Amino acid sequence: MDYAAPVDTIRFSLDTVGDLAEDIRAGRAGDLSEDMLSAILVEAARFAAGELAPQNRAGDKLGARFDAGRVRLPSGWPAIYKAWSEAGWNGVDLPAEWGGMGLPTRVAVATMEMWTSANMAFALGPVLTQGAADALVLHGSDDLKARYLPKLVSGEWTATMNLTEPQAGSDLGLLRTRAEPQADGTYRITGNKIFITYGEHDLTDNIIHLVLAKLPDAPPGTKGISLFLVPKVLPDGARNDLICTGVEHKLGIHASPTCSMAFGEKGGAVGWLVGQENRGLACMFTMMNKARLFTGLQGVAIAERAYQQALAFARTRKQGRAAGSSLSGPSLIVEHPDVRRNLMTMRALTSAARVIAHLAAKAIDDAHGSADREAARKADELAGLLTPIVKAYCSDIGCEVASIGIQIHGGMGYVEETGAAQHFRDARITPIYEGTNGIQAIDLVMRKILRPGGTVTEVAIADFRRWGQAAAQAGVADFGDLGPITVEAAEALKEATDWLRAHQADQDRLLGAASPYLRLFGQAAGVACLAKAALAATWRKKEGGTAMVLSDMIADARFYAENVAVGSAGLSRVVMRGHVQSRGAFR
Ligand SMILES: Cc1cc2nc3c(=O)[nH]c(=O)nc-3n(C[C@H](O)[C@H](O)[C@H](O)COP(=O)(O)OP(=O)(O)OC[C@H]3O[C@@H](n4cnc5c(N)ncnc54)[C@H](O)[C@@H]3O)c2cc1C
Repeated sequence: MDYAAPVDTIRFSLDTVGDLAEDIRAGRAGDLSEDMLSAILVEAARFAAGELAPQNRAGDKLGARFDAGRVRLPSGWPAIYKAWSEAGWNGVDLPAEWGGMGLPTRVAVATMEMWTSANMAFALGPVLTQGAADALVLHGSDDLKARYLPKLVSGEWTATMNLTEPQAGSDLGLLRTRAEPQADGTYRITGNKIFITYGEHDLTDNIIHLVLAKLPDAPPGTKGISLFLVPKVLPDGARNDLICTGVEHKLGIHASPTCSMAFGEKGGAVGWLVGQENRGLACMFTMMNKARLFTGLQGVAIAERAYQQALAFARTRKQGRAAGSSLSGPSLIVEHPDVRRNLMTMRALTSAARVIAHLAAKAIDDAHGSADREAARKADELAGLLTPIVKAYCSDIGCEVASIGIQIHGGMGYVEETGAAQHFRDARITPIYEGTNGIQAIDLVMRKILRPGGTVTEVAIADFRRWGQAAAQAGVADFGDLGPITVEAAEALKEATDWLRAHQADQDRLLGAASPYLRLFGQAAGVACLAKAALAATWRKKEGGTAMVLSDMIADARFYAENVAVGSAGLSRVVMRGHVQSRGAFR
């Protein structure tokens, strides 16, 4: 099934919810111009559709193959990766100082959506490499930066994130990998890691592992974790003491190698400290925040691909006579109201997930780029608030939309022939890795909402309410109940937030309410951002705009409000009164 990147939709969302058009006009987006942005998106769309998408099925069927410590990706992938990285795509938002394009993160988010829709297993490698480059820029020593950043930014080498061990998944305090300091200032790393994405492959000559490990005298728990850079090939050209011991057989993303890694079986892998001793988790969070944004974006990307495929199928499959059809034979299934509802649900959920991701990317850009320190601090808080919502709400949407895509295909969706099943299988990991969605919800409630003195949640809710009021007052018939429902969703979120604050002492109830609260936040944010986009679409139409994206955006916003966000009041009730079973309930 072909993929065509929805360039106009991505651009409209970036411009209106991500405020990119305004930032370009005001000179807040560096050297980026309107024309340059258009050229980048068109060229990325061409590469994604022309080079990456055709490899998606083959990647699923062939997968990554393990053979005695080596891992081979499907034939052809090394050449495609070389062409992709030589075109500069790895460094879209990485610093120009180290060879990147130095563009806003919003542009990287747009291009990453396209790589991921086209071929998620391929795009996962760059997600980790870019996150590692970010971590080194912020926390690496000058020497490490000079030695590794140019090749990581260009994509000549890739990077990994080594957190997980068999006994330490969500709970990193249980890590056992050790780091022994050496007289020459390096460390010897010993231990086993599992589930390491792109831990070994044949795309590049070197792989740079960022590894969490404990020093001999480290304090217990997460306060005693340090971060180390451990290259597969050492600066003198020798192989480091680390190997891949196996590749997992798994539900989806078959061509993304999920590796077991052994460090130090011959005495210790050579590593260099990144940041300060025992402060490794803070450094790793730099990497994880981007990876979390991109994981939410994987939800958007798979949802988009699944929608395109389901629509194409619904326009060719004939079954049953649609009510009111003038034809004698069976109708195309796209004419049945239930199928149209399913297709609109897919499209509106995808649009909602995309606008939330673009709102978060704008906050990240403001946090890094704003000259006003107070504005940058507030943007950083907003980015912190939105990161778990993007990660969890958007990845859940990816699974939901891919599942509806299978439904639209009927039996042909359940068998592998059409490719609809691959989207569902690929999407299913996204609520699990990068911190499970349950852990994201706990992060949102315990660290972001209940943070003492923080007002970012109130500011965000006030924005959501204001965008809803503007939509309600716009007097646009095509909006239906968009405005009032957006205001209701903001009120429901406010009520649930106040309730969380009032019940801080009751940790068990709070933790039990975290996931429905995150979903409520996602719905309120989604409908508010869509209302903002729909208002912008209306203004452009009044100025004579006729592009399809304008009508589509208004239709998506209305549908999402009247069919999804309308449930916000109920979700707020679930947060405040949903009964969580007591510990003794399961025998
Ligand atoms: C395909 C794939 C790729 C991966 N890539 C990488 C990678 O590149 N690098 C890396 O380091 N790791 C990677 N991982 C590991 C991944 O990040 C972990 O699987 C994930 O963090 C969850 O850990 P776990 O599997 O041990 O589950 P567990 O931590 O055992 O969790 C099991 C369940 O319990 C819940 N739970 C756990 N603790 C709590 C709590 N305190 N409160 C409430 N609920 C809780 C979880 O939400 C989950 O539902 C990958 C995994 C897979 C499958």
